[in-house]
Amino acid sequence: MARFTQADLSELNKTFEERTPDELLQWAGAIFGKRVAALSAMQMAGSVVCHMLSRLQVNIPVLFVDTGVNFPETIATRDRIARDYKLDVITLTPKLTMEEQTAKYGILYLTAEGQKECCEMRKSAPLHEARGRFDCLVGSLRRAEGGARSRFQILSVDPAMNCIRVNPLANFGDEEMERYIADHKVIVNPLHYQGFSTISCNRCTTPVLPGEPKRAGRWRHLGPWSVYCGINPTDMDGGTSIAIDLPQELIDRLLGRTTDFSI
Ligand code: SF4
Repeated sequence: MARFTQADLSELNKTFEERTPDELLQWAGAIFGKRVAALSAMQMAGSVVCHMLSRLQVNIPVLFVDTGVNFPETIATRDRIARDYKLDVITLTPKLTMEEQTAKYGILYLTAEGQKECCEMRKSAPLHEARGRFDCLVGSLRRAEGGARSRFQILSVDPAMNCIRVNPLANFGDEEMERYIADHKVIVNPLHYQGFSTISCNRCTTPVLPGEPKRAGRWRHLGPWSVYCGINPTDMDGGTSIAIDLPQELIDRLLGRTTDFSI
């Protein structure tokens, strides 16, 4: 194993700005083989990534964290995507049911501190259980979402999962995404057509009013709306010194030192 830092990705990140989502997904499949998975919360952008994976036939499974308090529409979207796109959707679950958690800790999501604990137990921890299985996770973050997401790098290191994160839709604008969805009749969580700009647990997500920021419906009861659950490390404070451990052979392949694979 060798240390690999966010700074080691800087050159690749520069060249990847010119790549299309298709090219980035094909790159991930070619470099990481069976050690890559996508992560989707079954929101609109995640559905687009799932459609691309299916269309490109890159054989990348999809991880979905079922917090136990997702909207039924979200679960139905997961099932439709798995069936219609013929994807291997792997559902990850928290250790405790929401009832067990509430009996033990109370209703956590009512306070800012409790929200962090609840998101850690119900979202991050189930994903972290899969640490070691994957060297790369494909996300569906877009810079057009604004806020903390307006500046993230296409490739980043994720110390909690000890893997690389790649977000192929980083430069996908709103209009581009709408066009892709219409052109390909992408399966979209119906809540997006009921005023939900982003979708998470039913306890903490509301629709947004016209003119409100896209994330205004998340943890509305807690005040400031620029809150993130922590499952995407690029939403949190990052830095070029953040490091993970990867096999040297994988680092060489990743940085194009031992292969003439090009995109
Ligand atoms: S979004 Fe709310 S209910 Fe869901 S894990 Fe986070 S705090 Fe808990």
